[in-house]
Amino acid sequence: MCDNCPSENPTRRSLLKWGAAASVMSAVCAASAAGVPFVGTANAVDLSISTKRGVAYYVAQSGDTLKTIATRFLGNIDRWKELLALNPDLHGQDPRPGKKVRLPESPAGPNTRTFAPIPAGSKPQPFGPEGYRLTRFGDRAYGLQVGPAQSAFVVTDTGVVVLDAPAGHAASLPKAIASVTDKPVTHFVYSHSHSDHVGAANLFPNAIRVGHAETASILAAAKDPARPVPTVTFTDSHVIDAGGQKIVLSYPGPNHESGNIIIHVPQQRFAMLIDVAIPGWAPFRSFGSADSVPGVLRAHNELMKLDIDHFVGGHMHRYGTRKDIAESREFVFDMWTETQKAIAATPIAPFFGQVEAGNTWAAVELWYDAIAVKAEDPILRKWTGRLGGVDVWLRDNLKTMAVSARVDQPKDLPSG
Ligand SMILES: [Zn+2]
Repeated sequence: MCDNCPSENPTRRSLLKWGAAASVMSAVCAASAAGVPFVGTANAVDLSISTKRGVAYYVAQSGDTLKTIATRFLGNIDRWKELLALNPDLHGQDPRPGKKVRLPESPAGPNTRTFAPIPAGSKPQPFGPEGYRLTRFGDRAYGLQVGPAQSAFVVTDTGVVVLDAPAGHAASLPKAIASVTDKPVTHFVYSHSHSDHVGAANLFPNAIRVGHAETASILAAAKDPARPVPTVTFTDSHVIDAGGQKIVLSYPGPNHESGNIIIHVPQQRFAMLIDVAIPGWAPFRSFGSADSVPGVLRAHNELMKLDIDHFVGGHMHRYGTRKDIAESREFVFDMWTETQKAIAATPIAPFFGQVEAGNTWAAVELWYDAIAVKAEDPILRKWTGRLGGVDVWLRDNLKTMAVSARVDQPKDLPSG
């Protein structure tokens, strides 16, 4: 009998619902099934969960606090207050090593959130033994997928133009290039400054580094040796004309980040704009961490003007086509329209009556909450199952949009 196996121990079964503990449990179960004593190091502390008449306890280890225990077992640091309430004998203090800390019977809270299934076209695809996937666009451009991050390069008659180099691509990118050409890297293009896309820019010290002037300014301030400042900058557009290939760089205005550019290789019918339209997926939180919400919408409009077959969005599991850009555009404009409608239908005044006098922040936050709740319903009904992760950050993204709608007031976008 494996006391840790969910099939044999009902308390373990309930613990398995606690995502943070699940992987540890399966390691314990596997060791036990093999007749091998489970000797862990960092994870061994999790073995200290014990049950008594259906109540779960954790034996505190050196360095544990209520917040670290809440993070590990309840999936949310804020739930340390529940532990405090369940363990009055702690008298408000963090547990000493060896102290048994009672855990909640039923882990209601953020860690029990469930999410809509990922649509078939948005799921990860297997990698080969090399651990990356190289995809050719046209006859000279390539997309490189490593984990959920993407970069690209173009092979010209005289060398290679590399488009982004995430830190996680540092080992794979040179190998992938070498697998198709022995030509040197002549140019490195920064899509924007963010480290998760150009954190290995220093792989190519001899290349001409090209980026938008805003990107150069941001990188100059960052002083990161892994992201050297571009040596060639521009403000509106720039064409790299190298070895018979034209790589057209254009700036659609501030969007995901100021300086984030559209990279278009017309001969290969290929384009790239990072962190704006993610093929098959809804935006990341805070509306893709947008510097300019209206700018992200406008950038979608600019992308739709390109006659292309291949699109790199920078993240998740696949590349896209114009259809994916159109779908992303429809999604973000739906969000914008529903946000505007919800703002118009939600007077702010009543929320001031729900909070302490003078706490304007709290009233406005309740108002934004109400707007997001109102706006999300039609979005969820229309889009769940069409894009991945629609439900993950929708409310957060709608609140980001609502703030933008109030302060940016763009007159070139639909008003709802
Ligand atoms: Zn970014």
